[in-house]
Amino acid sequence: MDHYSLEEWLKYVKNELGEKDREAYEDHLYTCDQCLEVYLEAMEEEEYALPAMPREDEFTNLVMAQIPDNKVKEPPMLNVAKEQKKSTSQKMWFECCFTIALACLLLIGGLVKMLEGTKNKEEKLEQD
Ligand SMILES: [Zn+2]
Repeated sequence: MDHYSLEEWLKYVKNELGEKDREAYEDHLYTCDQCLEVYLEAMEEEEYALPAMPREDEFTNLVMAQIPDNKVKEPPMLNVAKEQKKSTSQKMWFECCFTIALACLLLIGGLVKMLEGTKNKEEKLEQD
C-alpha cells in the first residue's frame, strides 16, 4: 500500500488538493494508522505555521480587495468616523488596563518592600 508523505498531508490540511485526491486521502486515512499520525503531525505544523492573527489579517485584506473601489469611496466620512471611534475606545481601554496594571505593580512593590522591611527588622532583632 502506498503511503502519503508529510508534505502531501500538508497539502491536504491546506486544502490544496482536488476533490478526488481529498477523497483518496480520506479513504486511506480510515485504514492507515501510520498515515493518521503523519496527518496529525501535518495538522500541528499547519497550526504553528499560520497563527490566528495573520490569517485573520490576510482574510480581511482578501475581503477588502474584493470590495469594488466605488463602494469603499461612497461613505468616506462614515468610515473615518467609525475607525476613529474604534481606535479611541481601544485607546481608552488600553489606558484603563495600563492604569490598573500600574496600580497592581505599585501595590505589589509596596508589599514586597513592607515584607522586606519586617524581615530586616526580625533579622536585626535576632542579631541583637
Ligand atoms: Zn498510509
